[in-house]
Amino acid sequence: MFNSYDKPLPIIDEDSKGYWEHARAHRLSVQVCKACGHRHFPPTPVCPACLSNTQSWEPVSGRGTLVSWVTFHRAYWTAFRDDLPYHVCLVQLEDGPLVVGNFVGAIPENAAMGMPMKVQFDDVTPDISLAKFVPA
Ligand SMILES: [Zn+2]
Repeated sequence: MFNSYDKPLPIIDEDSKGYWEHARAHRLSVQVCKACGHRHFPPTPVCPACLSNTQSWEPVSGRGTLVSWVTFHRAYWTAFRDDLPYHVCLVQLEDGPLVVGNFVGAIPENAAMGMPMKVQFDDVTPDISLAKFVPA
């Protein structure tokens, strides 16, 4: 199953390594500043609130609310062609940051801002599990 994944994959670096370790265990996480407690995403080498470089990755609930979504009708990468149309959504986590991910399945007719959402993970390679979202 993993051999068939031909879409672009994230590049794991020192700043994002903790996120991908949690994702592999199917836990959504955000970066937390050890100096001021600020929670943020995506990863940054220093805290955007206080510039401290002492940060960690902490799991969050994976629940949130739908802020917006977009439907792709054109494949900008050949490997996405069979998925068309697919949806990408913006979710406000109940634990803080906004995150972007695929919206799994069809957009419900009653979809609206504030709709409860929850994360689910897609194991696309032995090392990479992608966070995606479904209505809660
Ligand atoms: Zn900070």
